[in-house]
Amino acid sequence: MQKEKLYGKTLNELIAVTKRVSLPGFAAKQIADWLYKKDIFTIDEMTNLSKRIRDTLSVDYEIGLSAPLNIAESSDGTKKYLYKVLNDKYIETAYIPDKGRATICVSTQAGCKMGCVFCMTGKQGFQGNLSVNEILNQFRSLPEFSTLTNMVYMGMGEPLDNITELLKSLEILTNDWGYGWSPTRITVSTVGLKNSIKEFLEKSRCHLAVSLHSPFDEERRKLMPIQRTNPVKEVLGVIRDFGFNNQRRVSFEYILFKGLNDTPGHIKELARILNGIKCRINIIRFHNIPGAEFQSPDMAETIRFKEALNAKGILTTIRASRGVDIQAACGLLSTIEQNKMTSR
Ligand code: SF4
Repeated sequence: MQKEKLYGKTLNELIAVTKRVSLPGFAAKQIADWLYKKDIFTIDEMTNLSKRIRDTLSVDYEIGLSAPLNIAESSDGTKKYLYKVLNDKYIETAYIPDKGRATICVSTQAGCKMGCVFCMTGKQGFQGNLSVNEILNQFRSLPEFSTLTNMVYMGMGEPLDNITELLKSLEILTNDWGYGWSPTRITVSTVGLKNSIKEFLEKSRCHLAVSLHSPFDEERRKLMPIQRTNPVKEVLGVIRDFGFNNQRRVSFEYILFKGLNDTPGHIKELARILNGIKCRINIIRFHNIPGAEFQSPDMAETIRFKEALNAKGILTTIRASRGVDIQAACGLLSTIEQNKMTSR
């Protein structure tokens, strides 16, 4: 029988574990220390627990870390790791070093249900939600783990479509008994699930990034089917109502498609709908995917668009494209081939 994994459990869940196996309550904090502050891979290495406690725990539990199966390296230093999840599925995780920063881009689902037409993960369909163990294992088992400074939930899947496991992972990352990271080091990206955005804002203090891509209803609907049920107007209403403090950032991701969403009319409408929200726009040049009808704008056009938004008073930046040559850049993650192999 498969043992239950301790890695990925919150402090309250570890307290429940200690009760279940009749261990003293203080053991939960000790176990959390071993899981999230030390470098161990087996319960037997938890040497400040008595041998009896370790043996009792080991009957039903294991730590549950698993190393990546494969790595692809970009000429720009970005790396893409392949992890096995959900018994026979695969996900990808990107590691992006940049001067003094090192960011991990984690996945929260195998595939995705959201069907954004410009995204390889969307084309893969949905294979399942990752557990908190599988979400945080990408972080802990990354060979560059000790160098990480930032974390973005922008890999495969829609994080807020797996909000229970997402929130547990944030709890472990940001609490003193866990990794003790500042929430300002973490950004969660979403297509804009309005009810879950509200819950995320209330229950965590991490930054929020919303994929916008068009300020026009009809156009956005063609790019992102989620617009049908979660119109951006209502999403912005949730964000306006919440009221951000200076510690917390809301940004809008804007994939720029040549000749589609890059006109003066788009700039004017973006300024109108974002009026009154203290935010930034992050422009991402479209990365081509097989069969896509879109084109990527050149850098000069991208800079012109950015400057026009800045002139309207919206702080706008251009996200550097990283890992394009290994399909690790935004919208390019896919494990469709690996999944096919295991379903044969
Ligand atoms: S862009 Fe994000 S939400 Fe949309 S299909 Fe891709 S992974 Fe899913």
